[in-house]
Amino acid sequence: MIAEVIIDSRAKKLNRKFDYKIPENLTDLIDIGSRVLVPFANFKTLEQGYVIKIKEHTEFEVKEIAGLDENLSQEKIELARWMARKYFCNVSECIKLMLTPGTRSKEANKRMQDKKMNFVYLAEFINNEIVQENSIDINKLRGEKQKKAMEFIAKNEGMTIPEIIEFAGVSRETINSLVKKGLLRIEEQKVERNPLALKPKEKNNKLKLTQEQQNAYNKIEKTIEDKRFEEFLLYGVTGSGKTEIYMQLIEKIVNDDKGAILLVPEISLTPQMLDRFIGRFGKEKLAVLHSKLSVGERHDEWLKIKENRAKIVIGARSAIFAPLKDLGIIIIDEEHDNSYKSESNPRYNAKEIAEKICKDSNIPLVLGSATPDLSTFYKTQTKEISLLKLTKRANNSNLPTVEVVDLKKELATGNKSMLSQSLYNSIKQNLEDKHQTILFLNRRGYSTFIICRECGYTMKCPNCNISLTYHSFQNRLKCHYCGHEEQVVKNCPSCGSNKIRYFGTGTQKLEQEIKRIFPEASTIRMDVDTVTKKNSHEEILNKFKNENIDILIGTQMVVKGHHFPKVTLVGVIAADSSLNIDDFRANERTFQILTQVAGRAGRENLPGKVIVQTYNPDSFPIEFSKKQDYDLFYKTEINLRKQLKYPPFCDIIVIGFSGENVQEITNVSTYVYNMLKTNLEKYDVKVFMPMPAPIDKIKNKYRWRIIAKGDITEDVTIIINKCLQKFYESGIGKKTNIAVDVNPNNMI
Ligand code: ADP
Ligand code: ZN
Ligand code: ZN
Repeated sequence: MIAEVIIDSRAKKLNRKFDYKIPENLTDLIDIGSRVLVPFANFKTLEQGYVIKIKEHTEFEVKEIAGLDENLSQEKIELARWMARKYFCNVSECIKLMLTPGTRSKEANKRMQDKKMNFVYLAEFINNEIVQENSIDINKLRGEKQKKAMEFIAKNEGMTIPEIIEFAGVSRETINSLVKKGLLRIEEQKVERNPLALKPKEKNNKLKLTQEQQNAYNKIEKTIEDKRFEEFLLYGVTGSGKTEIYMQLIEKIVNDDKGAILLVPEISLTPQMLDRFIGRFGKEKLAVLHSKLSVGERHDEWLKIKENRAKIVIGARSAIFAPLKDLGIIIIDEEHDNSYKSESNPRYNAKEIAEKICKDSNIPLVLGSATPDLSTFYKTQTKEISLLKLTKRANNSNLPTVEVVDLKKELATGNKSMLSQSLYNSIKQNLEDKHQTILFLNRRGYSTFIICRECGYTMKCPNCNISLTYHSFQNRLKCHYCGHEEQVVKNCPSCGSNKIRYFGTGTQKLEQEIKRIFPEASTIRMDVDTVTKKNSHEEILNKFKNENIDILIGTQMVVKGHHFPKVTLVGVIAADSSLNIDDFRANERTFQILTQVAGRAGRENLPGKVIVQTYNPDSFPIEFSKKQDYDLFYKTEINLRKQLKYPPFCDIIVIGFSGENVQEITNVSTYVYNMLKTNLEKYDVKVFMPMPAPIDKIKNKYRWRIIAKGDITEDVTIIINKCLQKFYESGIGKKTNIAVDVNPNNMI
């Protein structure tokens, strides 16, 4: 028998099949999806590869497979091949996402460092006779210490030696002598590295669903019973009880002995969320997967799923590949969150993967959000997705009031500080009331935008309606979509004033300013600089909550899913920075962020207040987020997208080139551009000229790109793949790295 094998390599040239003979002794074991070791070319060591097909004959003279590692299911291999086509990457890169973490050589070494430990048990046998539980006469033991140790261990079997030493207050020698007497038994065992081990378990009882919740539940339950695919959008304001519906659906699935995947944004894998699931389902049935776990932890969680011990997987993006045996449902919470789209190879979108898996397995897919992705909501209008609405908060608390402050007017009254009079007053009042405040600095991307502080005018591209970005190196303004360039202006083109500002403010500066204005207030800062090591995000939030710190200052990270009962004031320092990013989603991001951040205030009985500072109080994302009216926002924005032909009315593909040699990049990108342009002409896909990316140099590597806009159908995908393959085989521009991104999160 012959196996078609894909070599585990990032080299684009090797993204093809090679035939290998299957040795007799492995015929029964090797199947599609097997990870095997093979000799390759004249390499000295064996290479890792994946079997994607098995056949009788080959026309080539072939080598033999040298060994077998792990088996994946056939569906997973199919999924990987589908992904590689769709996201223009190597099949092996996709397969890697589906393998047990920590089994590849390098990782395995790291994992093995998580050592085995000694666990202590009562000896069941003494001199070959079973010792009855109460037949050990503790009183016959000589020393008090030995008595104490035995008493403790009798009640706490299976603890480790260090634990016994600490909790029973006995010495290692005491334990040793009890072992010698044959009263205790020591067993070396692998420690199950369990990320949930230290979590308390507090019962979380099933709630009686409200009418709205029940309606939504019933519709989804019906598709489970009918064993068919259907995609749902559970659209409900924050606190409307979406999570309760997820839990009841999952309960049903688990009772049918099937598995469930719940994806949550990386950042909202908060203790609060996990506690609710542990309280409802217990720790044994749950597996957690996210990037903050150690390799060893991820490995153990993965095996727990693979061996069918865990039926419920809660995790971030990559948990979509969890090896659940009989999947019954996939739920994606906060579906608008951009962490579901991978920003590194393979650049997949977990929502699209989920859709594919659910379709293939005839099970429902549930997306939940208070501010749905515009494209998702659009699909509810075209009936591709079924809309389920929750309009009320489940615990009857009120949504906060939102006040919008016009920073142009502040400036006119001579206030040049970062805080408007109104926000200043409110913070002061909140400090006096001993309530907590969150100050949010809305800052995305790295680019600097230009704004007139007199009239709020921002410089935009005449062709694309997207903010121009200031490039300090050339001292020019550029559009990152079409390449339009302009000279830097000194006076506002709209009102003529000279109050043109290049905008970009940091959290650090804000914290200093707050400390200066309110020296008595305690503050804590959360941003990419302060959140680095494991759990640090959680630590900052816990500290804010438990130590009752007055003011939390942060970026996007403070926005999501947290529940702080004492936060009554949320201040948005400048809403404009996301409004003016050079991205067609600027309005959508602004609306989402403002709505989510507003949802942090007044979540329980204390009423909440939100103050949004802006130079553009009349812009519709700000106006509609003030009213917390998603529907109105959707209607306005979708019309704009249609007019300008942006997603969901087309797809955008970004083909990025990077390398140290700018001349080579220019050649390579021009070559690819010409090839794409010729081949895609008849498909109504517009291919734009290669040009430098908004951040045109990172770590001494130049970055260029080609943007293609249009309907990326199967046919178009195949053509792009063919063009790229032809390029890789041509051997031109070996030092230039190419990465393709379909509908990327950021256009930087
Ligand atoms: P969401 O996921 O939409 O933000 P949650 O499921 O977290 O909403 O619910 C918000 C709050 O309302 C929680 O405290 C939850 O316990 C409570 N809740 C949810 N459903 C019900 C219900 N049917 N009856 C009473 N309280 C509920
Ligand atoms: Zn433009
Ligand atoms: Zn102006």
